[in-house]
Amino acid sequence: MSNTTGVHTLKNYIGGRWVAAETDRFEVVPNPATGETLAQVPLSTRGDLDRAVAAAKEAFKTWSKTPVPKRARILFRYQQLLVEHWDELARLITLENGKSFDEAYGEVQRGIECVEFAAGAPTLLMGTQLPDIATNMESGMWRYPVGIVGGITPFNFPMMVPCWMFPLAIVCGNTFVLKPSERTPLSANRLAELFTEAGLPEGVLNVVHGAHDAVNGILEHPDIRAVSFVGSQPVAEYVYKTAAANGKRVQALAGAKNHTIVMPDADLDEAVKGIIAAAFGSAGERCMACSVVVAVGDIADELVQRLVKAAGEIKIGNGLEEGVFLGPVIRAAHKERTVQYIETGINEGAILVRDGRKDVEGMREGYFLGPTIFDHVRPGMKIWKDEIFAPVLSIVRVKTLDEAIAVANQSEFANGACIYTDSAKAIRQFREEIDAGMLGINVGVPAPMAFFPFSGWKKSFYGDLHANGRDGVEFYTRRKMVTARYS
Ligand code: NAD
Repeated sequence: MSNTTGVHTLKNYIGGRWVAAETDRFEVVPNPATGETLAQVPLSTRGDLDRAVAAAKEAFKTWSKTPVPKRARILFRYQQLLVEHWDELARLITLENGKSFDEAYGEVQRGIECVEFAAGAPTLLMGTQLPDIATNMESGMWRYPVGIVGGITPFNFPMMVPCWMFPLAIVCGNTFVLKPSERTPLSANRLAELFTEAGLPEGVLNVVHGAHDAVNGILEHPDIRAVSFVGSQPVAEYVYKTAAANGKRVQALAGAKNHTIVMPDADLDEAVKGIIAAAFGSAGERCMACSVVVAVGDIADELVQRLVKAAGEIKIGNGLEEGVFLGPVIRAAHKERTVQYIETGINEGAILVRDGRKDVEGMREGYFLGPTIFDHVRPGMKIWKDEIFAPVLSIVRVKTLDEAIAVANQSEFANGACIYTDSAKAIRQFREEIDAGMLGINVGVPAPMAFFPFSGWKKSFYGDLHANGRDGVEFYTRRKMVTARYS
């Protein structure tokens, strides 16, 4: 798409300045609720990326030597500014992503929590010492930044996911090049602007907009030492392999197909409330979305009936409107792909008990799809296996907890899993036997807070150290071991 006049074209943020990308390729960024163009995003070139890396390299010289308490103070000011701009940021997220304002508001909170965790840097960055490893000998570990870090983020959390990365990387003394999703690029610019207002020196955080070329530039650039990625599974695998082959440390968080087991003794009111929020909140575009319910025993009929009823009460519409719960999916093409999945589910023999296509028949604008529920889904069906990433919920019926766990464990993904039950025995068996990294017990979306690692398993994660918490500190620092003799 060529650069037309009259449409706001986003700039890159390099070395503390807004710089036009040197590209002739642009993509339109629509508001998914209306289809209206919000901006144009440049698909930056390798040259643009190189300039950002050069700025980050220059800034690293002084930023890496800046005392840690001084760095932390900038984070405290940043936290304050994010709180002051909470509504504005939430609105921006809803505009570019489509999720409801309440969901966006919650996302801002999760982003702020990452900044709060990072502001604890003086404690987080301490080393460890043993004063007497032998007579008159001591040994100790000191922490240092790794250098320039590249961050590549998805469309579904335009604020929270970048905030998993750059605040912690930066407070650890690194400098950063962020390549936000080209589908939701607006929030990143505002986040960078506010960080500068908080006192962050120029070149410490740079934003380069774009897609494949900018990503490949990050993966191959010899001056970039570490890569944090969050996105879909095939891209995560590619990023992990390519960055590692280029000698970088890499953490790549990937897709998901999260199962929720509902036991016969579950509190059904709570289970239905939690599942509806987890399956259809953010239009199902969450890596911690509940996409499969496994109903155990004779609870299934009532559970399905209640889920269908609750899904029918969901208000669909523009996320900025009062009371709206379910906004649009991100693009028309994504809606089309989801509709094809619904047809696939029917052809595979699953029973469509709620057809979200009907909810939106009269809607002319936006990429809306109502809550869709399939019953009698079986493992092996495409709708059970693939991450659809939309408001489509599958229900699998089994007789026992053993079977339910076996179904969940067959998935190639293993981000999260939940159980609704009153039984301590069932909870213990679930915790011990389920093959997933983030578990929920009587809660819908068990996304850990910023001081814990976001710890997907299997094809939901590539790497060793996860995002956030102590893992994040380990990922963004390297260590020196010093052994000394005094005699
Ligand atoms: P995506 O993989 O399409 O894009 C992610 C990033 O990779 C974007 O910045 C994009 O520009 C870039 N990219 C895409 N294709 C590329 C390619 N072929 N080569 C190089 N770069 C490429 O993901 P998305 O659709 O934006 O986000 C949704 C996905 O992210 C879902 O699969 C979701 O589960 C996952 N996700 C995972 C987590 C987690 O913590 N595990 C969190 C949020 C989202």
